[in-house]
Amino acid sequence: MFESLPEEVTVYEVGPRDGLQNETVPLGATDKIAFIQALVEAGVKRIEATSFVHPKWIPQLADAEKVCAGLPEAPGVRFSALVPNVKGLERALKTRIHEVAIFLSASESHNKRNIHRTVAESLADYRDVVTQARAAGRGVRGYVSTVFGCPYEGAVDPRAVVRLVGELKALGVDEVSLGDTIGVATPAEVYTLSKQLVRDFGAKSLALHLHNTRGTALANVVAGLEAGIRVFDSTAGGLGGCPYAPGASGNLASEDLVYMLHGMGIRTGIDLVKLTRASKALEPLLGHALESNVVRSLSMHVSRPAEDGQDPAQGSFIPDPDSRRQKSGADVIALEKPQASKNIVTTFNQ
Ligand SMILES: [Zn+2]
Repeated sequence: MFESLPEEVTVYEVGPRDGLQNETVPLGATDKIAFIQALVEAGVKRIEATSFVHPKWIPQLADAEKVCAGLPEAPGVRFSALVPNVKGLERALKTRIHEVAIFLSASESHNKRNIHRTVAESLADYRDVVTQARAAGRGVRGYVSTVFGCPYEGAVDPRAVVRLVGELKALGVDEVSLGDTIGVATPAEVYTLSKQLVRDFGAKSLALHLHNTRGTALANVVAGLEAGIRVFDSTAGGLGGCPYAPGASGNLASEDLVYMLHGMGIRTGIDLVKLTRASKALEPLLGHALESNVVRSLSMHVSRPAEDGQDPAQGSFIPDPDSRRQKSGADVIALEKPQASKNIVTTFNQ
């Protein structure tokens, strides 16, 4: 294990869409834009900003046009949005979204309940969406839900997933994001399926969208890394995973993902403290504490003002991916411990 870890992976931030659509308190467009701006400042390079699904289905994201109009000018950052059909695409194409995302399920029952079509009907409907998006120069992402388990059917046949990924690639989808929608996956199956998909379609075509509903998301990330996956979806703070919200999604928290990756010597380009601040700013607006373990443990540090020129985050065990990776060329993790500073804050965790 850990012999072929990459130097860098992409954290695909889906908080403004997948996260906020599962929160009970809707945010205003201004707050959403400020959140996206804070994510950009933290170094996030791919951000799913909103959704062009009809507001009847996702009222939390009814302000898609407003949000898109306020997206920051950020060279090197790619913004995406969910589109359900050609109508949604037409709305998206009037904005400067770089990429659109279509969605369907690996299991028939979930697809029918979620988007009221068979999987084959969904694929047929998306043909025009993908063609027109590509003709307009936009990228296309495809979400496959219930890859590792369906709430109605139970286990999902991995062969059905492989077939579906092939069909999406044939339609012209650039990247397929494999969703553990109900958070039931465990590492061995994630590894086996990811390995096969990487072999069949290449790592550039794939992403993992893991949910932490049963606490296995980070272990599954490690399995995915080992299998060659290089793009992982997550939400800042674990947005959308509120246990009090009906239909809570249990999204993997971006901070937990970044902390683990950096600790393993894998770069993300993201500043963990800035990302945590972006998430913390949402708590008073949403009316509840966020789920992320790292946000909880870092909170005392990031909310402390700088004193005597000291970094307030000092002493909070923030791993630097570069110092964790041996410079000798071998891709192994250096066995050095992070230095805890003297002024470590211990309040609240006794
Ligand atoms: Zn999700």
